[in-house]
Amino acid sequence: MATVYDKFGMKSDGELTGEKRAGSLEGEDTAQEADDRATPLPPGVDQPRIQRAVREILLAVGENPDREGLRETPARVARMYAELFCGLHVDPRRHLRKFFTETCDEVVLVRDISFNSMCEHHMLPFMGTAHVAYLPGDRVIGLSKLARVVEEVARRPQVQERMTEQIADLLVDELRAKGVAVVIEAIHTCMTIRGVRKPGAVCVTSAMRGCFRSKPSTRAELMTLIYGDHR
Ligand SMILES: [Zn+2]
Repeated sequence: MATVYDKFGMKSDGELTGEKRAGSLEGEDTAQEADDRATPLPPGVDQPRIQRAVREILLAVGENPDREGLRETPARVARMYAELFCGLHVDPRRHLRKFFTETCDEVVLVRDISFNSMCEHHMLPFMGTAHVAYLPGDRVIGLSKLARVVEEVARRPQVQERMTEQIADLLVDELRAKGVAVVIEAIHTCMTIRGVRKPGAVCVTSAMRGCFRSKPSTRAELMTLIYGDHR
């Protein structure tokens, strides 16, 4: 049986891959949908249960889930949720455990890490960028690992404030850094398409640990690194 790795580096059972699933619906789908089915999804999400729930929602809002355009919708939504919430079934710490022992006394910053997450209050997406910085102790990690941590923490039902703190605390725990800073800027669709309807409003959160919290000069240096040349 084939072992497949998806874009999150997760192993999937070869039996769930698209060749088999796409076959039965050939001719009814767009290429994009066939493609979607070909992307193996992480285990741990009960897709049939989501399908039943989505069908219920369609009925509850007064739709006919059996009309042509909606027939495949529950299955599509189930695949989408499996993708959007795949972070619930992985431990982002694993990325931080492959560190190099090195002394470095300068701030390391990865700026503008884009992410998409899901507001847990409304089940609507919020999206934006994360800036993640640390001042190493004796552990240094590959820069892409910071982006992977953001990605996995984002792919679960979230609130931006908690997401910011979770990323900071993961880095503090695993890297024994002298300081960690996480700044996240995001647009929440629950504020733009419903409720107060304020498109363009950007929500900014930050979590400062160690020297970024205690030393104003280190925090100021970081803010210059993040915003200095493009604001
Ligand atoms: Zn919301």
